[in-house]
Amino acid sequence: MSSERSRRGLMLVLSSPSGVGKTSLSRRLVADHADLDLSISMTTRAPRPGERHGREYFFVTEQEFTALIEQRAFLEWAKVHNHHRSGTPREAVMESLVAGRDVMFDVDWQGAEALAAAAPEDTVRVFILPPSMAEMVRRIHARAGDSEAMIRRRLETAKEEFTKWSDYDYVIVNDDFDLAYAELAHIYHAERLKRRRNPWLGDFVRTLLEEGVE
Ligand code: 5GP
Repeated sequence: MSSERSRRGLMLVLSSPSGVGKTSLSRRLVADHADLDLSISMTTRAPRPGERHGREYFFVTEQEFTALIEQRAFLEWAKVHNHHRSGTPREAVMESLVAGRDVMFDVDWQGAEALAAAAPEDTVRVFILPPSMAEMVRRIHARAGDSEAMIRRRLETAKEEFTKWSDYDYVIVNDDFDLAYAELAHIYHAERLKRRRNPWLGDFVRTLLEEGVE
């Protein structure tokens, strides 16, 4: 039965200041759901230790990034930490959505705003808050591979990111990872069940009515 149930894919956008656990939450949700694809961004920043081309990001040069903008290859892109550029490749996202799959985006407030403006009906925005500033600052400092200058930039950008929390549909406080993950999964599951995302329901109800009630 489920293969006949045509779905309209949704775009799940996660944003937060750095050091709040957004990456771990988004990666786990994608790993746990076969119908949810992760949008892998392109970035002009250098890879951190352990990051792999095509897994965390596609790492490209400034020249390549500029050429891709001109080719309209991005669904959205932004200058991040006032330092480098990151953008969402359009093609992979469209392929997933057309196939009725959902897509997860790990982007900043600028990306969230642009995606919601481009597809207001299909975009669900979730903001993650830290339990305290001290915990967030500790996590930003603990991240391997960032220079002092990058750490300063992350702390600066974090302040700006906080001011955007009320633009989001949902807000989760990541005090306990498992609880925050359960909340995120609830949001995703409920959003998938929205009537407009399940166009198969019209035919299904017609079939039920044809069956009659005797
Ligand atoms: P990081 O340097 O820690 O990987 O990412 C810094 C910030 O850039 C994060 O808030 C991340 O969500 C955001 N980001 C990553 N990829 C994109 C993208 O394609 N578009 C936008 N707008 N932001 C992105």
